[in-house]
Amino acid sequence: MENFTFWSPTKFVFGRDTEKQAGALAVEFGATKVMLVYGGGSAVRSGLLGRVRESLECRGIDCVELGGVKPNPADDLVYRGIDLARHEGVDMLVAVGGGSAIDTAKAIACGVPYEGDFWDFYCGKKVVEKALPVGVVLTIPAAGSEGSGNSVITRLDGLVKLSLRTESALRPRFAVMNPELTFTLPPYQTACGITDMMAHIFERYFTNTQACEVTDSVAEGLLRTIMTQGKKAYDKPCDYDARANVMWAGTLAHNGICGTGRREDWASHFMEHEISAVYGVAHGAGLAVVLPAWMQFVARRNPGKVAQFARNVMGVEPTPDLLADALNGITRLREFFRSIGMPATFGDMGIDSPDIDRLVEMLHLHKGNPIGGYERLSPADTHAIYTSML
Ligand code: NAP
Ligand code: FE
Repeated sequence: MENFTFWSPTKFVFGRDTEKQAGALAVEFGATKVMLVYGGGSAVRSGLLGRVRESLECRGIDCVELGGVKPNPADDLVYRGIDLARHEGVDMLVAVGGGSAIDTAKAIACGVPYEGDFWDFYCGKKVVEKALPVGVVLTIPAAGSEGSGNSVITRLDGLVKLSLRTESALRPRFAVMNPELTFTLPPYQTACGITDMMAHIFERYFTNTQACEVTDSVAEGLLRTIMTQGKKAYDKPCDYDARANVMWAGTLAHNGICGTGRREDWASHFMEHEISAVYGVAHGAGLAVVLPAWMQFVARRNPGKVAQFARNVMGVEPTPDLLADALNGITRLREFFRSIGMPATFGDMGIDSPDIDRLVEMLHLHKGNPIGGYERLSPADTHAIYTSML
């Protein structure tokens, strides 16, 4: 096991009716004027946005609103949000929604006190030193952004989707998590969320760092839970306990606990970001196609951890043949994704003739060469993986 720092200072308030505490939490973390950041309207239609606003105003907090965040959020709304927040003297951002609203709020939070272009942080030119505090009312368990220090934004000029990682600056101060708010999620979004949270664990689980049994146990337990409870939530959208288990698992998948003491991978996320940036597919759906393809490729070079996953998570009976066990586990993983309506190929995502040469070129231009940790992947490797997804 390697040395590590685990930093997860977010105050999580979990359970029924917890959105009523948004006002008290905002006061606790020093807000006087809040910008509410939300998406395309689900939070308005459900009445949630109004309830959160009321909770804030009851505590004497002024509110301004920034709606219209799109999935795979882009920089245009971030610039608008920065201007509006400065003009209005906002001192806290509260995102009401999922990863897209939260990541937009985080981008605005670091952009407001910075004199230059907020994109400097995303392209690695500058490190975030100051940011406004961010709070969250979560409506979709998926990205784990409610407990992470990360934010993913797409620059429309050139369709570059980049992830900003901070240790502490962008971790939300509080996250309100009421599983009932997720009852209205369409099955497809539920499934995309399940896939994304599994991917966040895989990116940390597939490592060559040895002797991390404690972290492996957390990761494997979470993966098993996400699959059993996720399938229940997919089949029965108003099953509170299934929704609650999935919601909390989504946070634990991405707050860093599954990466403690070891190197991480992230090649699958990098490969997916190129797809969702260019073709606009849901991040989770893209991952459902990338993950098994990536796993199959790396298992042929380095089957050990994939076989462990197959045995400990997918219930494959151990044999002396590591690769056979690994491939068996991958087949079961594909079956699971199919059972929750996730795509398996580019064609399933409606991308009939992807420009793979371009995806590979952009991938390595944006993310470096080689990419990945469990196996180092060259452009020829990533080309082969994308091609296997046809
Ligand atoms: P999302 O893009 O925030 O939301 C997906 C869709 O679900 C939207 O159309 C939204 O509609 C709808 N929705 C949300 N809550 C709903 C509810 N309760 N009922 C009905 N519909 C609801 O989804 P996400 O997967 O959480 O975020 C994806 C983004 O996060 C991607 O850009 C991805 O790359 C990024 N990401 C970030 C991190 C991180 O650490 N920061 C990690 C992984 C991924 P409305 O717009 O109408 O609300
Ligand atoms: Fe993700």
